[in-house]
Amino acid sequence: MTQVDKEQVQVAKDYVEKLFNKVVEKNPGEEEFHQAVKEVLDSLVPAIAKNPTYMKQAILDRMVEPERLLTFRVPWVDDKGNIQVNRGFRVQFNSAIGPYKGGLRFHPSVNASIIKFLGFEQMFKNSLTGQPIGAGKGGSDFDPKGKSDLEIMRFCQSFMTELSRHIGPNTDVPAGDIGVGAREIGYLFGQYKKLRGAYEAGVLTGKAVGYGGSLGRKEATGYGTVYFVDEMLKAQGLSFNGSTVVVSGSGNVSIYAMEKAMELGAKVVACSDSSGYIHDPNGINLDTVKQLKEVESKRIYEYVDIHPEATFVDEFSKIWSIPCDIALPCATQNELNKEAADTLIANGVKAVGEGANMPSTYDAVNAFLANNVLFAPAKAANAGGVAVSALEMAQNSQRLSWTVEEVDGKLKEIMKDIYQASVQASEEYGTPGNLVAGANIAGFTKVADAMVAQGVI
Ligand code: NDP
Repeated sequence: MTQVDKEQVQVAKDYVEKLFNKVVEKNPGEEEFHQAVKEVLDSLVPAIAKNPTYMKQAILDRMVEPERLLTFRVPWVDDKGNIQVNRGFRVQFNSAIGPYKGGLRFHPSVNASIIKFLGFEQMFKNSLTGQPIGAGKGGSDFDPKGKSDLEIMRFCQSFMTELSRHIGPNTDVPAGDIGVGAREIGYLFGQYKKLRGAYEAGVLTGKAVGYGGSLGRKEATGYGTVYFVDEMLKAQGLSFNGSTVVVSGSGNVSIYAMEKAMELGAKVVACSDSSGYIHDPNGINLDTVKQLKEVESKRIYEYVDIHPEATFVDEFSKIWSIPCDIALPCATQNELNKEAADTLIANGVKAVGEGANMPSTYDAVNAFLANNVLFAPAKAANAGGVAVSALEMAQNSQRLSWTVEEVDGKLKEIMKDIYQASVQASEEYGTPGNLVAGANIAGFTKVADAMVAQGVI
């Protein structure tokens, strides 16, 4: 590195440090948002140093400020006739490369910090997919657990009554996330259609296949995560075949990550939900998990009644104490901390692939990188879901349906391309092997260049 290079790096470091302090000051108490911004800003230093235009154009200052943050009241009537009130959110983070795009989360933990961290991450992830989609995210602190089908429907209708003013196939296209699956998307779509008086199929993705959904969307995030990790393993002469895998969660992402890992010859020995984890050393029976979670909406501990050889532990974060070759955190943010990372490393983990959004804490990520564990960051590894959502939008606007083979083939190619782009950026910017930096930089430059081209708006 020349003296000039060193000076430029220092200028970039000072700039991102100052900006991060400003973000903390302007968004008090929003810890998840701070965490997501910090990880990105730190890793962008080499890109900023090499292209000072981004600093002059205040691109990062603009990126950390959402274009719009909407909060709204969601009143609904429960089965006993009582009026309930929840808070709804939609963050429209960045529209430089396409309409806002990102899921809706229904979970009691949802607040502005969670929605902003997810929307911020979505900006880089959506860019990485190579599809023309901007970044958004939304949801509510509504807890779907224990609610009847009619209560879910009434909540979704009330939520959409307000949200419908702000979305559309060319402006903002929500999808599912935690607590929002095909059933909720159906109710949301029905209400949107009624309010608009028009069939705008492309306003939501994750729809059921019978009314505009894409084949392969349900599986896309989990399969995509495994395709990405498979690329990363292959580059080191490793594979899923014969490996022992631990996957947290037992929702949409987790179930299809398990399915694809098994198809590639892995033995998946554990999964979880918020009640705890199950460990089945002979290999999880996925049909049982699907029946319990997808069909009967039951808790994961019921698995051991059907398979007594398995054990249940009522602390879901302890799942990482099970020795494995590959760990796939697929439940929620910050579910894998430094202590869990150290245990995985001590037990000889070779690769970690993030199916969930920001499941590893900042310290845990650094522990994996420092110990040469192959690490697939969420923005890259779980981008398959939103990539196939963009394919759903493409099919909706053409009024066509592609076969599952077509969609899965495109997903595989997209995941391969994201892996290559992340590797290339990590090498170009002097952090070879660090896919966290590679993915952030590769996702960033496309959005940044579009913002420069479109002027100060
Ligand atoms: P689901 O609601 O289908 O499943 C979530 C799973 O994680 C459930 O097993 C749930 O357990 C568990 N979980 C959720 N919150 C917590 C918590 N606070 N503590 C412990 N366990 C928890 O959601 P998805 O599978 O769709 O999403 C999982 C992750 O993947 C999220 O981080 C999401 O943002 C991310 N993601 C999802 C995409 C998608 O296409 N669906 C796309 C990209 C990322 P329980 O049932 O007990 O709550």
